[in-house]
Amino acid sequence: MELADDLNAWAAAVRMLKAGMRPPVVHLATGLPKSRLRNLYQEIHGQSAPRGRVPENAARQIKNMAQAIEAMLFVRVYLNTAMDRLASENGLDSNLVMDAYRIYARTVAGDTLDVSLAWFLARDLRDGVIQIRRCQQCNSEYLHEPQSPFLRTCPLCRMRSH
Ligand SMILES: [Zn+2]
Repeated sequence: MELADDLNAWAAAVRMLKAGMRPPVVHLATGLPKSRLRNLYQEIHGQSAPRGRVPENAARQIKNMAQAIEAMLFVRVYLNTAMDRLASENGLDSNLVMDAYRIYARTVAGDTLDVSLAWFLARDLRDGVIQIRRCQQCNSEYLHEPQSPFLRTCPLCRMRSH
């Protein structure tokens, strides 16, 4: 790795860790060593990172309809802010994820999505694991992932019908 790339990766890692992203996710995002990321997390937060596995896809981290809607809100902010730059960045740039997350967190009133989930959403969208669909009934966009009970159909219509 070139020195400048290395510095950029560490700068991005600090930004993600400060926002509360878990070290294993920052490792996926930056390729930096896990042990050094864990130490850095501890330095930044004054306590060690929460233990336990982070599910390695976005759909499995979405546990209810409200989160499915939040996830779509984040994705919309992300695509709107990142659109032009994504094509030249292999479809995923962690700095763009962080920019979008900051805007999302500022504009959303309720409980915000976890920042680690935001990164997985951007990645799974790039990989086509999650897709954006438009609801035939209410014309809203929603995130679609056939295995997830919360992403199978439009969450807005499902909330309305209950
Ligand atoms: Zn709908």
